[in-house]
Amino acid sequence: MKHILTFLTFCGFETMLLIAFATCTAAAQETTPSYAIASPPVCQNNKGEPVRFENQMSPKAKSAAGMARRDDKGMPVIYRFAYAKSPQSLQQFIDRHECAHHQTGDIDRPHPPRNSPDHMMNESIADCIAILRMRDETTDSQTQIQNVTIELRQAMAAVGFPASTIDSRISNINNCAQKATTASDFIKAILDHRAAN
Ligand SMILES: [Zn+2]
Repeated sequence: MKHILTFLTFCGFETMLLIAFATCTAAAQETTPSYAIASPPVCQNNKGEPVRFENQMSPKAKSAAGMARRDDKGMPVIYRFAYAKSPQSLQQFIDRHECAHHQTGDIDRPHPPRNSPDHMMNESIADCIAILRMRDETTDSQTQIQNVTIELRQAMAAVGFPASTIDSRISNINNCAQKATTASDFIKAILDHRAAN
């Protein structure tokens, strides 16, 4: 709502110019809904360092997106892009997915080539940890999981991911949600496996 109000105020200055006004009206109809931004979850990396969350404006983004990394000073951080453009279930899932990259130590390991099997494996693991956390942290977990899959499907389709990629990601998430393990035990198993290899 705030987003729309800001936009209309901005358009108000331009009513003198008919053409500009017409452009504004057309754009206003395409204005994406604005959602409240969820509080970030607790997040600590595999070395016990606290991870900071930082909201970033991203005017061109179609939906919320996240990025996990170390900042210029070497502090672990998660950047939250355009969170107001997606519902809270998806925001919460992205937060936990990015946090998982810190929890598993992906951030401090060499980044595997994009779309390589190792890269896809890291992404599947991060999705798995994120959905296990959402399942165990909420009282209405079935609704939350369903919302995540619906919103993720929409967000991925909007940026042009092929249906097969979307389907396999969603099916991994649904399978993970059935696992008889907690997120922290799952993370521990990943860290033990990596330490042994
Ligand atoms: Zn990821």
